[in-house]
Amino acid sequence: MGTDDRCAEETKTASLVNGQLVVIGGGAGGLELAVKLGKKYRRDPSVDVILIDKNPTHIWKPLFHEVATGSLNSYHDEASYRMLARKHHFRFLLGEATDIDPNRREVHLAATRDDSGAEITPKRTVAYEQLVVSVGSESNDFGIEGALTHSRRLDSREQAESFNRYFTTLLQRLNSQADSDPLSVVIVGGGATGVELAADMHNVVQRLREYGFEHLSDAQLHVSILEAAPGLLPRLPQRIGASVKHELEQIGVAVHVNTRVERVLDNAVHTNDGTDMPAAISVWAAGVKAPAWLAHTGLPTDQAGRLKVNADLSVDGCDGVFAIGDCCACQDREGVEVPPRAQAAHQMASLCAHNIRALRSGKATRQFVYRDFGSLVSLSRFSTVGNLMGNLMRGSVFIEGWVARTFYLSLYRMHQMAIHGPFSMLLLVLGDRIYKATRPEVKLH
Ligand SMILES: Cc1cc2nc3c(=O)[nH]c(=O)nc-3n(C[C@H](O)[C@H](O)[C@H](O)COP(=O)(O)OP(=O)(O)OC[C@H]3O[C@@H](n4cnc5c(N)ncnc54)[C@H](O)[C@@H]3O)c2cc1C
Repeated sequence: MGTDDRCAEETKTASLVNGQLVVIGGGAGGLELAVKLGKKYRRDPSVDVILIDKNPTHIWKPLFHEVATGSLNSYHDEASYRMLARKHHFRFLLGEATDIDPNRREVHLAATRDDSGAEITPKRTVAYEQLVVSVGSESNDFGIEGALTHSRRLDSREQAESFNRYFTTLLQRLNSQADSDPLSVVIVGGGATGVELAADMHNVVQRLREYGFEHLSDAQLHVSILEAAPGLLPRLPQRIGASVKHELEQIGVAVHVNTRVERVLDNAVHTNDGTDMPAAISVWAAGVKAPAWLAHTGLPTDQAGRLKVNADLSVDGCDGVFAIGDCCACQDREGVEVPPRAQAAHQMASLCAHNIRALRSGKATRQFVYRDFGSLVSLSRFSTVGNLMGNLMRGSVFIEGWVARTFYLSLYRMHQMAIHGPFSMLLLVLGDRIYKATRPEVKLH
């Protein structure tokens, strides 16, 4: 059955299966949504809010580059879904969604297994009355040979932690073999992920020197960023990209713009001008697409596999199904293509919660309008730059330094406030202060 047939059929047979509001994916968008719905329906026994995620804990994805370098310990910043479920009156199911059947209004979950592969929980189906898909995105290799097999990625916590183990090992080796060649790192993609990672790698090398790695120096770390566009951060105003390029070059990062990657090899990256750039670590950060399994669900998708949604975030032609965050292809009611960002996922979660409530009480849904409050790029402790009021006024405001840093940090605090509540967020700020005063500034093992 084709995409549209499957949804059209579903619309004909649609009936209220039960009171289950199911959210798949507890990330920047889905977790905030589950918290809102859980709180809203806490006194309504006819409504059961269920969050499904393939991991037991949540880490805010914009922190993944810090997990990769070791400037953040993932165990310190993770939030337990079960704890949040208890606090905010939703149910949590641990499991990986593999399919959605809009005719039967069911989500299919794979079996869960332990480290040895033995089954813990068998395959399951979860029925829904209303469903929100918020499963995020993964790296898009754009068909480039070797991109996914030879490069490291920062799509998941596991990948970020594996990166960290490898990076730490290479730095330890570099420190103990003073005459060894510098560590060459090639980052493909000059977007926010690539530039933030490059700066933080240098930050960690400098920090490690303070913890007894006295043979390490910036000169032993050769980080290059390859970007196909004429400037870094091509989605942001040119001035930000130029400022970031200048800052990175000051730190010692080599920036190559107008450079396309044609092939990624085991220990090198081959570019369009015929160069093989040596890479002990290559990182693929060149863009994202939706998780591949969504394309097999029969729900309507675009070329990047993202679910096509209407302006009210409902999946085109599929009654009772919404999609939010990176996994949806959304043009807001003003025709703006919504970018894959945490602030977009946050705003979509708020509107989706409103629209689910509206539908349940027979009211009209609202249309999504993306408010770009600006974009901030953190170059670790070296600098933070960005703009405020992206599309909210005629010209955005360029900011840098501590003002930019404060706004950058406040984004994460706002997410913590959305999932923990204001009081717990303040306790977390205090806890972070105590943690920093009593622990090393970087992960040392
Ligand atoms: C290194 C890095 C830095 C970034 N910096 C910024 C920034 O500074 N500002 C900004 O606005 N954005 C930033 N982003 C982008 C931002 O992280 C994403 O746009 C945002 O997280 C998208 O939210 P989401 O809810 O759509 O998906 P995610 O936050 O990715 O959450 C998806 C969730 O779905 C779960 N999941 C996935 N598949 C399944 C499945 N099959 N079954 C069950 N669960 C599943 C995952 O475990 C995860 O919990 C950054 C991204 C990266 C990688």
